[in-house]
Amino acid sequence: MNYALVTGASRGIGRAVALRLAKMGYNIIINYQSNEQAALETLALVQEAGTEGELLRFDVSSREEAVAAIEKWQSTHPDEYIDVLVNNAGIRRDNLLIWMEPEDFERVLSTNLHSFYNVTRPLLQPMIRHKHGRIINIASLSGQKGLPGQCNYAAAKGGLIAATKALAQEIGKKSITVNAVAPGFVRTEMVEGLDEAELKKQIPLNRFAEADEVAAVVAFLASEDAAYITGECISVNGGLYT
Ligand code: NAP
Repeated sequence: MNYALVTGASRGIGRAVALRLAKMGYNIIINYQSNEQAALETLALVQEAGTEGELLRFDVSSREEAVAAIEKWQSTHPDEYIDVLVNNAGIRRDNLLIWMEPEDFERVLSTNLHSFYNVTRPLLQPMIRHKHGRIINIASLSGQKGLPGQCNYAAAKGGLIAATKALAQEIGKKSITVNAVAPGFVRTEMVEGLDEAELKKQIPLNRFAEADEVAAVVAFLASEDAAYITGECISVNGGLYT
């Protein structure tokens, strides 16, 4: 049995990724923070896709919670390991730096970047032992070019892209690939309140992405077809930044 852990799989891009991977036959471990109702909806969709799923609630920004949840999962699945990890959970707390409160800087860093350490590290040893693994980090256009009002988010996502490249070089010999996907604007709850009509004028494809268009790239990176791709950051941004 193959297992994929998708963080922040209750909604948005994470849910779309969970469904894509379910259709590829993976058993899906659905992480979320607080929205149990939405996580249960993802679970029902995963089961409809014909595979198994389970909820694993923990706050990705807490090392203690992440490690405890993963160790508990491992103890109840002694003969299995998680061979696909999608680090997707994320938040934004936008403001110009001059107005940005320290907790908004720190919260975005801990949820979007420290989470990479908290969740990835406990899963590495089993992947190395099995000489197979796929780690896919959901970055952002903001981490590639920086966007005003997002010093916190851009720093976190830029750091995530750099960590992707570093880890890819550490564990390539073990046939574990590490890649990032950098979406532009994607129609999820995260972009509610943004002026889509105005923003889309800057996008060559003249629209926001659907979550499934990001999930398609994640699914490709998780597949055997992507076995020779590592340390990459693939943009999914409608031509906004190339
Ligand atoms: P979303 O619709 O707001 O969903 C966020 C997901 O992350 C939810 O499942 C949420 O769980 C989970 N989450 C948030 N904080 C968490 C925590 N501390 N621990 C565990 N789970 C947590 O966001 P989205 O648009 O799908 O974004 C997904 C990823 O894509 C993020 O990393 C985001 O930065 C990135 N991204 C999004 C866009 C965009 O335009 N939407 C563009 C570029 C990059 P609950 O349901 O329990 O709250």
